[in-house]
Amino acid sequence: MLLLIPGPVTTRPETRAALARDIAPWDNDFRDVLIRLRGRILHLAGGIEGTHAALMLQGCGHFVTEAALRSFLPPAASGTGTRILIPATGAYADRMIRLAREAGRAVVTLPVGRIERADPAAIARALAEDATISHVGIVYSETGSGVIHDVPAIGAAVRQAGRRMIVDAVSAFGAMPLDLAVQPEIDAVVFTANKCLEALPGIAFAVARIDRLEGRAGQAGSWSLDLPAVYEHGVKSGWGSFRFTPPVQVLAALDTALDFHAAEGRAARLARYTANMRTLYDGVRAMGLQPWLPEALQGPVIVNVHVPADPNWDLQVFVDGLKRRGFVISNFFNTPTPTFRIGCIGAITPEDMGRAVEAMEAVLRDMGVTERHPRLANA
Ligand SMILES: *Cc1c(COP(=O)(O)O)cnc(C)c1O
Repeated sequence: MLLLIPGPVTTRPETRAALARDIAPWDNDFRDVLIRLRGRILHLAGGIEGTHAALMLQGCGHFVTEAALRSFLPPAASGTGTRILIPATGAYADRMIRLAREAGRAVVTLPVGRIERADPAAIARALAEDATISHVGIVYSETGSGVIHDVPAIGAAVRQAGRRMIVDAVSAFGAMPLDLAVQPEIDAVVFTANKCLEALPGIAFAVARIDRLEGRAGQAGSWSLDLPAVYEHGVKSGWGSFRFTPPVQVLAALDTALDFHAAEGRAARLARYTANMRTLYDGVRAMGLQPWLPEALQGPVIVNVHVPADPNWDLQVFVDGLKRRGFVISNFFNTPTPTFRIGCIGAITPEDMGRAVEAMEAVLRDMGVTERHPRLANA
């Protein structure tokens, strides 16, 4: 069974096998694994030893995104008047907005069309017009649409304006390029193990600037989600130790997954995902369906496809039919008009995707779906 969802992704059997033992988090052998993992994560982010710290937080992407928002932005009630500008790129930017607001942080949103890249010039203008904006929060790969946003260009605008940035790279990290060494405006980039790193869910990461972490413990207003406190723990107790119980097996599996990442290389992984996307994008078009994004905006992580106009279409029936043929896709959608969504990331190849496309055609035929143009035009 292959998971064709944008996380948690299909993993290699070797990665799953690494789960199969009991581990004490404080065991000296495991301390070495943790120290090695932090070094590998720091390196993958382009972080600089002594300037950046690779912090680990138990849990999912939302947890570490909230932790970064709490840790680097003062609460609105503190009276500092500082706010975060979040370009509203789609469903995942909306989640960042909600996390910040519910954590009591002040948010300014910048409207962005769903079928559009966030414009660095518009962000520069918003920053020039509003001195209360201390940070920009951007989703690198907007999983809600499939669009990749230009983190280096947006970062340059933020840097020029003397502001700070928080990057949600959850569905980008490990495949899309990232070099924190040349983006000093980034306070933290956040991501998880279970997307482009092709490991298992349960652990999240923030690679953050040490000069922004130091002296900030407590600002988060949540001990569990306090990244400066995670940093202080590492400094005091050693980077082979963990604050609170970590998902030890998941970390052991990540070590194996990172061996495969190193053997493949980030650029080759991106090329494989891009080939997966191409096979899918061209394949659904050839069967008369229409992808939600135009080719020029289609990123390599997730493809949304307009649901066909045929009255026999039913998403759950389609999902069940594909599952019987060995492919699991989402039974929900994140776009303003109805779509089905297929993830292109994980331990899958263009050949796997080719078989998935054949399965889609077979299921549509079984369902009697002949009218395949979109039911609704793009909003
Ligand atoms: C998957 C994802 C997240 C986090 O999801 P969790 O379910 O909390 O792990 C955040 N942002 C983006 C862009 C994502 O794709």
